[in-house]
Amino acid sequence: MGLVIALLLSYPQVALRIRPLNAAELEEGATVIAHKVGDQVVVLMDPNEDPEDPLRAHRSRERTFIFDTVFDQQASQEDVYCATIQHLVEGVISGYNATVFAYGPSGAGKTHTMLGMDAEPGIYLQTLTDLFQAIEKTRDNMDYSVSISYLEIYNEVIRDLLNPSSGFLDLREDSKGSIQIAGITEVSTSNAQEIMQLLTRGNRQRTQEPTATNKTSSRSHAVLQVTVHQQSRSTDLAEEARLGRLFMVDLAGSERACQTQNRGKRMKEGAHINRSLLALGNCINALSEKGGSRAQYVNFRDSKLTRLLKDALGGNSRTVMIAHISPASTSFEESRTTLLYAYRAKNI
Ligand code: ADP
Ligand code: MG
Repeated sequence: MGLVIALLLSYPQVALRIRPLNAAELEEGATVIAHKVGDQVVVLMDPNEDPEDPLRAHRSRERTFIFDTVFDQQASQEDVYCATIQHLVEGVISGYNATVFAYGPSGAGKTHTMLGMDAEPGIYLQTLTDLFQAIEKTRDNMDYSVSISYLEIYNEVIRDLLNPSSGFLDLREDSKGSIQIAGITEVSTSNAQEIMQLLTRGNRQRTQEPTATNKTSSRSHAVLQVTVHQQSRSTDLAEEARLGRLFMVDLAGSERACQTQNRGKRMKEGAHINRSLLALGNCINALSEKGGSRAQYVNFRDSKLTRLLKDALGGNSRTVMIAHISPASTSFEESRTTLLYAYRAKNI
């Protein structure tokens, strides 16, 4: 069933998640300006335009964006998982690659969607749980082994989030041209609780900084890499082992460097983040061209992130991006730029 859905969908898939208003927003008198309409449409109202102003009467206060799926505050973690990622799992155990991105400004809900909490686990755990179950069902004729690594890309260097003291790690291409990270920790466990602990601890090792807008901002991209090795059990067939890779990426906050009045170190981070998010948007945009005709011109070398994901973004791969916004009037500019980025990732 999942596989059928995957075959019917066109990739990349771009979804939008709108989180609920939070206490701080309510306190500053923010109103809700982002509304989900039907399953695929979001309407964003410009709170700065006065509908009574005759000079502006010819302009619409509303901007409409269409996505593959739109989730609002009613959506549970499971709803988001089932509609976006669940159908990728069977592909990964058949040797396909898949990549999932959480995109959006700081505080918009990316880590909530990806990692979540013990009571409401996010996509990481739901995906791994389904993956182990799917493997369990096919055990009779195949041998599988699954390993996970968790890393961050900060200022264009890679750090192992499961072993932060190991310093900077290098990207290498092996003899088959596939990208490897030298010296990364690879963990194989199918214990859900153990995985959640590992990832929660790893997530605390991410490079995070308070910004002038007083939110904690993740300045790095966190990448959970899941590798599925598959080997046929029939010894008479000299079959090659198949490899399916799944990347789940909690991207750095997309707010622009200038918006948080950053100077010095913060500004350099901002430049790296902007550059890698731009490179990523360009790659996804090029891949979304019908038939992938422009995919050959994709420049994966533009950033560490796209270099790492080269295999996962090109070829036989399935990509899902989940963009995140706050519904608050006080976040209008950030939400508008997020919607434009995500919309552009899919549409030319
Ligand atoms: P980001 O990773 O994009 O910076 P977080 O995921 O940390 O943002 O979310 C910021 C805060 O909002 C967290 O306290 C988180 O629990 C809460 N939050 C985010 N999305 C939701 C949601 N859909 N429902 C309830 N709370 C949410
Ligand atoms: Mg986060």
